[in-house]
Amino acid sequence: MSRRPFIAGNWKMYKTTGEAVSFAKQFKDLVAGVRDRDILICASFTLLPALAKEFNGSNVMLGAQNMYFEKEGAFTGEVSPLQLLDAGAKYVILGHSERRHIIGEKDELINKKVKAALQYGLLPILCVGELLEEREAGKTEIVVKRQVIEGFKGLSKEEALKVTIAYEPVWAIGTGKTATPEDADSVHLYIRKVLTDIYSKEVADSIRIQYGGSVKPENIDSLMAKENIDGALVGGASLKAESFERIVKFK
Ligand code: PEP
Repeated sequence: MSRRPFIAGNWKMYKTTGEAVSFAKQFKDLVAGVRDRDILICASFTLLPALAKEFNGSNVMLGAQNMYFEKEGAFTGEVSPLQLLDAGAKYVILGHSERRHIIGEKDELINKKVKAALQYGLLPILCVGELLEEREAGKTEIVVKRQVIEGFKGLSKEEALKVTIAYEPVWAIGTGKTATPEDADSVHLYIRKVLTDIYSKEVADSIRIQYGGSVKPENIDSLMAKENIDGALVGGASLKAESFERIVKFK
């Protein structure tokens, strides 16, 4: 089963519009020839319209980092799936560990967001991953299984196939500590087993699973060499055009 590689940047709460536009002007030229893999940048809401303009006609897709699950209404401070589409987003990151553990988002809310994204035509990247104490207590599989089962709850096979999973061990995000390619690959394989139990082997083999957690130009090649690692969700190293270019151009 060959899955198309998928490299996504998560800019988190960084960059002004001017900084984002100058990144985009440089980056789209650096990756212009890349045709055999998907490239995505997930940026703050305020940056999306300007980035959409810059990336229009290029091979760089645009995503958001969160959304609310209602179409519209009295939800002060929230952003809807329709507003994200309108701003140029194609993808949306949901359940990122910073939202789970800093903002306090729970599986049930994340599942509502996944369903709403699909309902309105956005492609979700569902993040899962264990805390350091959970890994040390041998609970990685229990935690990841729960997050996958709850995240996919109520999704048909057709809907499930539109979801990308990002496995991001929380202890590896922004810390400089990367899971070894072997450790990441074995959790990815386990996620495929969970998806096989929910859907089928065919569905499990079709869903792309990215690894995230201190991915850098220095470690991307060994991660991508693993059978079950289909891409990366990259935080810090996606903020500079040259380093993200090298990650996109993994060998
Ligand atoms: C992320 O933001 O999802 C992430 C993995 O960050 P970093 O690459 O900086 O660890």
